Amino acid sequence: MKIFDKIESEVQSYARSFPCVFNRAKGEFMWDEEGKQYLDFLAGAGTLNYGHNNPLFKEALIQYITEDGITHGLDMHTKAKKEFLEAFNDHILKPRGMEYMVQFTGPTGTNAVEAAMKIARNVTGQQNIVTFTNGFHGVSLGALAATGNSHHRDAAGVSLTGTHRMPYDGYLGDNIDTTEYLDKVLSDSSSGINSPAAVIVETVQGEGGINAASIEWLKNLQTVCRKHKILLIVDDIQAGCGRTGDYFSFEEAGIEPDIITLSKSLGGYGLPFAVVLMKPELDTWKPGEHNGTFRGNNLAFVTAKEAIEHYWTNDEFSKEIKRKGQYISDRLNSIVNEYGEGNFTAKGRGMFQGINCVNGDIAGQITRTAFKKGLLIETSGADDHVVKFLCPLVISDENLKKGIDIVEDVIKEVCAKESIPEEDVYFEAS
Ligand SMILES: *Cc1c(COP(=O)(O)O)cnc(C)c1O
Repeated sequence: MKIFDKIESEVQSYARSFPCVFNRAKGEFMWDEEGKQYLDFLAGAGTLNYGHNNPLFKEALIQYITEDGITHGLDMHTKAKKEFLEAFNDHILKPRGMEYMVQFTGPTGTNAVEAAMKIARNVTGQQNIVTFTNGFHGVSLGALAATGNSHHRDAAGVSLTGTHRMPYDGYLGDNIDTTEYLDKVLSDSSSGINSPAAVIVETVQGEGGINAASIEWLKNLQTVCRKHKILLIVDDIQAGCGRTGDYFSFEEAGIEPDIITLSKSLGGYGLPFAVVLMKPELDTWKPGEHNGTFRGNNLAFVTAKEAIEHYWTNDEFSKEIKRKGQYISDRLNSIVNEYGEGNFTAKGRGMFQGINCVNGDIAGQITRTAFKKGLLIETSGADDHVVKFLCPLVISDENLKKGIDIVEDVIKEVCAKESIPEEDVYFEAS
């Protein structure tokens, strides 16, 4: 019996999708113990935007360790933190005319979301936070209350309170602007919706099935927030750090969130790191009110700074992401047209895209078969029904094509199988 089966908890998830033992990775590739190579279209669920073991960051990291740089620093001022803050301010915030205070939280996305929700509640004195259908914000209790997925919510063990769900863009069909509904209930003192502290939103819902809000909807959402004096929190943990084409996923919409959460690819090297950005007037924290032992992952500060300095000092990288994003979108649309017959649709923005399958069974068959052909790709969405393309942003054109070719071949196979009586298909799949 393998050690994983013997003593690792049943809570494992990705490990079930990719049953092998990985031990090396570089760029867009991973290798298992047997030396089999896999093309990585999961990229640490959006944590490896710059690829595995990016050589530019690795060199800086090795040098920092060799020189006995601080590894753990609580929240103390360190050279690595100073240099990260300088790079972030000079190359990310200032050029975009953004003025925000940076809060270092515990190094997970969910902890940044907890902090963001606390700030909004403490500043406004209101408890309620508006969240959206299919939103995913993490699984610690406060953030879980903002998460839609019942599989995650059901594990809470206590009631999840302090949030109110509203329909996300497209939830009620293409021609309904759900911000009008939000405006309506907030304008009506008998709507039964408590006046909220904030709205928390993903511009593209990652775990919720690659639902991309339209630029128009995001603008309208900000307008409604401003009208009702509600803070706008953008959870940019997965969509940010370049995934949609710009550093922040909301740049295209030209909106100005009051609070922003970042994590996943922020550290750049897959090292745990999370921050909350807040407008200066919201920074009413008392010392240590939201603390955490691991708010000073200095190794992540080193690689995060390298990521900013190598990729975000001009718009070259952004153009590259948009070019590749267009390629992905063209390919997915042609796959959908070729094999879809109304069953598949393509969706997403930038290099954050997916194919919406009829159901989770088909999406699962596609990802399982892709794995056998050397491609790591996962599903997301309420019924795991969306095949999610999340390759490193730095992937070569050749390997991007290769990965999508594999998915196309697999879809061709799965579609051919679909014409066999259903029982056989389920038998194949199990
Ligand atoms: C992944 C994710 C989180 C949670 O981050 P963890 O590091 O898993 O806690 C929160 N919000 C969004 C949008 C995410 O994609």
